[in-house]
Amino acid sequence: MPELPEVETVKRLLEPLIAGRIIESVSVNPDFPSVLAGPDGVDAATTLPGLTITGISRRGKYMLLALSGGWYLIVHLRMTGRLLVMEHDSPPVRFQHAVITLDSGMDLRFADQRKFGRVQLATVDEVKSLNARLGVEPLTLGFSPYRLEQLLSSRSAPVKALLLNQHIVAGLGNIYADEALYRAGIHPQTPGGELNLIQITALVEAIKHVLKLAIRNQGTTFSSFENPYGEAGGNASFLRVYGKGGKGAPCPRCGAELERIIVGGRGTSFCPLCQPREV
Ligand SMILES: [Zn+2]
Repeated sequence: MPELPEVETVKRLLEPLIAGRIIESVSVNPDFPSVLAGPDGVDAATTLPGLTITGISRRGKYMLLALSGGWYLIVHLRMTGRLLVMEHDSPPVRFQHAVITLDSGMDLRFADQRKFGRVQLATVDEVKSLNARLGVEPLTLGFSPYRLEQLLSSRSAPVKALLLNQHIVAGLGNIYADEALYRAGIHPQTPGGELNLIQITALVEAIKHVLKLAIRNQGTTFSSFENPYGEAGGNASFLRVYGKGGKGAPCPRCGAELERIIVGGRGTSFCPLCQPREV
């Protein structure tokens, strides 16, 4: 599932290919028309042609394409969504649901095997409301130990579940939450409000580190993530614990066997020695 580094990778690669281009036409798979939605009473497919893509940004796991006329396209890849840039006359890709043809002769195509992803035509007010719903961006200066301490204080939920909550910190998913907790030496079931300032400082550093490393490696690919050229990300070989618990794999630091538990409904890998549960 694409998390912050994967969406950031797509954003950085798309930017030079689509910024400044004019949308010429839009087609949507008639079997899945809700993949492209608009505000009430606005038909996205007929509104988009003629608009210019003026910029592209990311917020949490969402991609935001700013358009002329005050419009935005909000793209959420969810589980298996992919945004691809291809020559207009190249054949359809698998699970292709929407095609936005640009004046450069290239298409911006949205494909999604599981059909949870969405492309939404939105007003500036809808973008503001999305922005207000999402938590702090972890790669900004605003994400400091002091800020995270405020966000976690008096919370009794496990820190792993709190990190996955997009209203608290935006962009983290299962991969980078596990990796960050391992790097910080924090047991994933520790109640958020019980972390001390030293642990919180280590966690902030760890979150920034694992996200920046993954962006440098153009994201982690297990099954479906691809960049806009259809290429896999290179970060999987840099993961220390994610997906390795309960399979006999050793901790890369101490050699103890990595364990797997369920936290916040998600499979969670950790090292019982490097991430002790303090009582
Ligand atoms: Zn260990």
